[in-house]
Formats: sequence, C-alpha cells, structure tokens
Amino acid sequence: MKITVFLGAPGSGKGTQAKQLSDNNGFVHLSTGDMLRSAIKNQMPVGLKAKSFMDQGNLVPDSVMIELIEEALAPLPETSKVILDGFPRTVPQAEALDKKAKTQVSQAINFEVPEPVLVSRLTGRRTCPSCGESYHLVYIPPAKKDTCNKCGAGLIQRNDDCEEVVRRRLEVFKSQNQGLVDYFSNHKKLINLNANQPVNEIQNQIIKALNQ
Ligand code: AMP
Repeated sequence: MKITVFLGAPGSGKGTQAKQLSDNNGFVHLSTGDMLRSAIKNQMPVGLKAKSFMDQGNLVPDSVMIELIEEALAPLPETSKVILDGFPRTVPQAEALDKKAKTQVSQAINFEVPEPVLVSRLTGRRTCPSCGESYHLVYIPPAKKDTCNKCGAGLIQRNDDCEEVVRRRLEVFKSQNQGLVDYFSNHKKLINLNANQPVNEIQNQIIKALNQ
C-alpha cells in the first residue's frame, strides 16, 4: 500500500485536491472529518464520542482516531494508493501509522496557506449535507443559490465553520502542526506545497510530486 498524507490547516484545500485525485487518478481518499460526520449522521458510537469535540473545534482523542483509521485501512488491497486527508493530526497518530509495516507513510505533502486566506475560505464555505460537495459563497458559488449543483439538496454551513469555531480550529492546528512537520521532515518524507494558488495548478504540482 502506498500512503500519502496531506498535512495542512483546515481550509487549506486538502479535501478538494484529494477528491480530484480519487476521481481522476485512482487514489483511495480517506477523510477522517468526513468519516466522523457520516458516523454522527448515522448515530454510530464513534460519532457520539466525537461530536462534542468537533462542535467546539477540538481534536477527537488519538485512541478513537487511530482505531477509526486502522479499521478503514485494514480491508484495502495491498496495491492501493491512499490519500489520508485530515490524518494524522498529532505526532502519536503519525507514529501509530508508521508502527505497522502495511501502513507506513510514503510521503507527506504540507499545504501552506496564509491564515487570513484560511479564515475567509472556511467562513464562506457551504457544504452539501447529502453528497458532500463543497462550495464557497464567493469563490465557488453554486449555480442556484444555496442549492447543490450535483444533487439539488439545500446547502448548509458546517457547525464548525462559524468564525468562532474556525479561530479555535486554527489555534489547535497551529499547536500540533510544527511537531508533525518536524516528524515527517526528520523521516525525509516532507514535501512543502504553496497551496495559495489556483486549484488546477496545485493539482499538477501534487501529481508531479507523487510521481517522483
Ligand atoms: P476536518 O473535516 O478534517 O476539518 O475535521 C473536522 C473535525 O473532525 C476536526 O476539527 C476534529 O474535531 C475532527 N477530526 C478529524 N480528523 C481528526 C484527527 N485525525 N484527529 C483528531 N480529530 C480529528
């Protein structure tokens, strides 16, 4: 299995890029945020455990997240190319992946975006609760106001995309990220990426990096 992890703040575009890679290039996209939101929607035990942490912009405990990702990776065939979007968020999570031969990380792409850009991307984000498609009030507006282009459902703002929780999520991110960057840099697996560029340009750079 070839595992690439996407590091970067909330709103840095990890999900958008991972989705394109899975649609067009055969990657398996695992987003721990999406997995948790779906677990909450379906009232699964892990969702109940995670909800209050998520609503406040805090991290869900490592033990819960490590179990979740191990269960998602276990059934994948050995030949899979996997993008982890939103995992690891802490050094113990990174170590848990590297502990097992099957799930060792091949490379980590670090999405770098200035903080004011992140705040505006997140607070303007609107999401389809039915198919998961993401929009932005200014940068990617839906064709019909508040309506998903793909499935017609009404768009919502995620609970944790309001400004107060966004600020908290960015604080949490900053407290953990340097440790992760150092971890992957020490393991010679870190690739820094300027993620404040047009989506297609970033996609091309990622594909180039993944093929090297
Ligand atoms: P995201 O959609 O990636 O922004 O994740 C939304 C929320 O899910 C985060 O703010 C955390 O509360 C939780 N979460 C997602 N992935 C992780 C992780 N690897 N470790 C801890 N919490 C996570």
